[in-house]
Amino acid sequence: MKHHYDVIIIGAGLAGLRAAIELGEETKVAVISKVFATRSHSGAAQGGIGAALGNEEEDSWEWHMFDTVKGSDYLGDQDSIEIMTQDAPRTIYELEHIGVPFNRTAEGKIAQRAFGGHTSGFGKAAVKRACFAADRTGRVILDTLWEKSLQRGIRFFDEFHILSLIVQDHQCCGVTAYEIATGEIHVFHCKAVLLATGGAGKIFKTTSNALASTGDGMAVAYRAGAPLEDMEFVQFHPTGIYKLGILISEAARGEGGILRNNEGERFMERYAPTIKDLAPRDMVSRCILEEIRAGRGIDGKDYVHLDLTHLGQEVNDSKLAEITGFARTYAGVEPNKEPIPVQPTCHYMMGGIASNADGQVVLDSQGSTFAGLYTAGECACVSVHGANRLGCNSLLDTLVFGRRSGKEIRKFIHSIGLPPIAEDVAQQEKEKLQILMDRPGDENYGAVLAEMQAVMMDKVSVFRTQASLKEALEKIRELQQRFTRVSVGDRGNCFNRELLDVLELDNMLDLAEVIAAGALFREESRGAHFREDFPTRDDNKFLVHTLAGYRPEKEPQIFTKPVTITRFQPQERKY
Ligand SMILES: Cc1cc2nc3c(=O)[nH]c(=O)nc-3n(C[C@H](O)[C@H](O)[C@H](O)COP(=O)(O)OP(=O)(O)OC[C@H]3O[C@@H](n4cnc5c(N)ncnc54)[C@H](O)[C@@H]3O)c2cc1C
Repeated sequence: MKHHYDVIIIGAGLAGLRAAIELGEETKVAVISKVFATRSHSGAAQGGIGAALGNEEEDSWEWHMFDTVKGSDYLGDQDSIEIMTQDAPRTIYELEHIGVPFNRTAEGKIAQRAFGGHTSGFGKAAVKRACFAADRTGRVILDTLWEKSLQRGIRFFDEFHILSLIVQDHQCCGVTAYEIATGEIHVFHCKAVLLATGGAGKIFKTTSNALASTGDGMAVAYRAGAPLEDMEFVQFHPTGIYKLGILISEAARGEGGILRNNEGERFMERYAPTIKDLAPRDMVSRCILEEIRAGRGIDGKDYVHLDLTHLGQEVNDSKLAEITGFARTYAGVEPNKEPIPVQPTCHYMMGGIASNADGQVVLDSQGSTFAGLYTAGECACVSVHGANRLGCNSLLDTLVFGRRSGKEIRKFIHSIGLPPIAEDVAQQEKEKLQILMDRPGDENYGAVLAEMQAVMMDKVSVFRTQASLKEALEKIRELQQRFTRVSVGDRGNCFNRELLDVLELDNMLDLAEVIAAGALFREESRGAHFREDFPTRDDNKFLVHTLAGYRPEKEPQIFTKPVTITRFQPQERKY
């Protein structure tokens, strides 16, 4: 089936919905999502969204900007960070006005709480900057934006899985998608496409991410010629529930929760004397693993304790209701009485599709753009998070840059007609799928997936070395070869989960290769990328973004582009 729209948005999370709303009633826009829209992963966001409102204590957007630059280990582009932090208060009031039910202070202002790496007065002490709705912040924002989108008459294609971008004469003019309920191929022909497909945490064995976080948008854009930026920077959140990876939000430490080792010691006091348990995530994750390596894990095992027992039942039940519930259900502990067993879990991709602050996909170090192709949210790299994202800055990123992308797309489509596309796009896509379904195979999808997740976790996670990364790359390339022999056993057209799993695995293998290749190239330690063989930051050689270009049948081509520095010169990063 063929559809004609002005704009197609892939992804119904916060970034996609905010862009859709910005496009206005006069634009014919459709949103495609592989899960039902309100099941998008933004709905899992717990702790809060950052903005220097100063409702609970003095704050300023310049302090927010400084913290974000320092948190990024000076790799974030400062022009984009300035845009984001300056626009944050407006973004929060906009959410308030469309009905997001934020928690309130006693005088009725939007309540705020502390989050990792957010400080007052250029790094002095932790500051309350995260606006929140208990620990269901993403849920309430997603539901509110979705309602708003329905009011605007935006058309949703839920449970449609995109397969590829349609590119004609270097311009993106549509996408192909697979309808999950029927197996039908759809062609969406349009003037502009926005990719807002979220993260890719499922590449790693232990993750806080949902099953749908498989990086499809990044992989599809990469294969269509859009470079991926800074993919080596993968955030491991310090407090995933032991063995499961389910997130216990930083809000728990924002409300006063404490990390303790097997001696009951508050070990973060040794590593970050100023802001202790609220140090940025890259540091806290490394510190937890250092404690475990030094034999101070609980019962000699690879986890530590997150202690919320002193916060009191009222705080735990009202402000941290969801995560204390997770601790009861999944870890079997009563957080009012016992500490929660935690270990780092793969959480967020700082890297993504290279883009500028207006959501245009960027092709090279000169900033040339990919006509008709836009991106926002976790799948994009603007770059506002650099080498390490601060907590509560992602929801902000999705909304600020989702809105800006919407504005830019409106300008672009105003001046052009619908570009022509080939007649046989759907047929070509059908044939590709048929080849995949028909190929004889002696390889098992589950085995390839498990081996990829294991090697990424063992060799490419918090600590990395040249040897571990080379081993990982070798293994990923072996898995890519084995993937060509994975067959699809299910022949059906209705909810063929096996086919979707295989398509997602193909995407993840390409991204795993880019992550490992970028990490091998970057011979320094910066933010979430820690090379044990190069343990210090090297601004002379590596104060640059990496870009990875796709080359069929070959390893990615890695090149670099400069970091934009405006107000804050790189300094040693201490907390
Ligand atoms: C447990 C958890 C808690 C978090 N808490 C916070 C927090 O408190 N504060 C904060 O700032 N950040 C938080 N984050 C991070 C933040 O939630 C995400 O980075 C952000 O919500 C991503 O939004 P998005 O719009 O980019 O993508 P998502 O919300 O992930 O949406 C992606 C969309 O793309 C669609 N899609 C993907 N692939 C395809 C395909 N092939 N075809 C069609 N559609 C596709 C999906 O269906 C979905 O609609 C948290 C993350 C997690 C995992």
